[in-house]
Amino acid sequence: MIVNARTRFAPSPTGLLHLGTAFSALYAYDKVADVGGQFVLRIEDIDSGRCKPEYEEAILQDLDWLGLQWEEPVVRQSEHRETYRETLRILETLGVTYPCFCTRKEIQEEAARSLHAPHGPEGILYPGTCRSLSPEQIEQRLATGDRPVVRLDLARARTLIGGEIYFEEIGRGPEGKTGTILCAPELLGDIVLARKDIGVSYHLCVVADDARQQINLVARGEDLFHATSIQRLLQELLGLPAPTYDHHKLILAANGRRLSKRDEDQSIRSLREAGHSARDIRQQLGFHW
Ligand code: GLU
Repeated sequence: MIVNARTRFAPSPTGLLHLGTAFSALYAYDKVADVGGQFVLRIEDIDSGRCKPEYEEAILQDLDWLGLQWEEPVVRQSEHRETYRETLRILETLGVTYPCFCTRKEIQEEAARSLHAPHGPEGILYPGTCRSLSPEQIEQRLATGDRPVVRLDLARARTLIGGEIYFEEIGRGPEGKTGTILCAPELLGDIVLARKDIGVSYHLCVVADDARQQINLVARGEDLFHATSIQRLLQELLGLPAPTYDHHKLILAANGRRLSKRDEDQSIRSLREAGHSARDIRQQLGFHW
């Protein structure tokens, strides 16, 4: 247990709350509700193409129906773009970023050509094609109207940090990993810090937000366990405090697949419409009323 824990639930409003995301919310809430901690809600709506205000509204209503309460106003990432730009600027100033002009197709083709293309738990790792572009080459590409993403230069970042990084896991990651965990950011590689379309990325925003909101306990699904290594690395680079992490197992659909927003019959909304009570759902997910 963490004294004065302050945790968050951070849904992306790209669909309705389903059993899996409801579990995450209840899990985080449960960690702090009985011990006088704080639970804050952050709407991760930075991807303006996929996020919809009607989903945000539905998520808030469903959380309320499930009996969750939050004291502070809901925070929206779309209202903090300047913070993220500033965070990116700091990383650029540290010299741990580079512009990358590769398309997804080019990255896949490059990986297909190479016998030893690096793969991580989330698929192909960026092979580093643009890592050593000269300033002149970058100028030329920009002059032709090519727009880059900004990537993290992991090797440089590690050199700058100059040692291993760890995080404290009080839940369980894959294979039951718990306790002090050695970060393995190489599993995700030179991640994108700023996408072409929205100018930021999930990792960049989450790190900036967790610090700004003084989150000291990040409770979330184990699908984000590997993301934690990258996020800890960014925290080190930026001189931000490290929260404690508490990853939980994912709720799976009957066929063993991960639940997704496409499983509409498992949305809290449709379960409610089918006559289930909030108490039923909480009990089904292992939480009492
Ligand atoms: N917005 C992310 C999601 O919906 C969660 C991010 C996090 O908890 O760090 O998957």
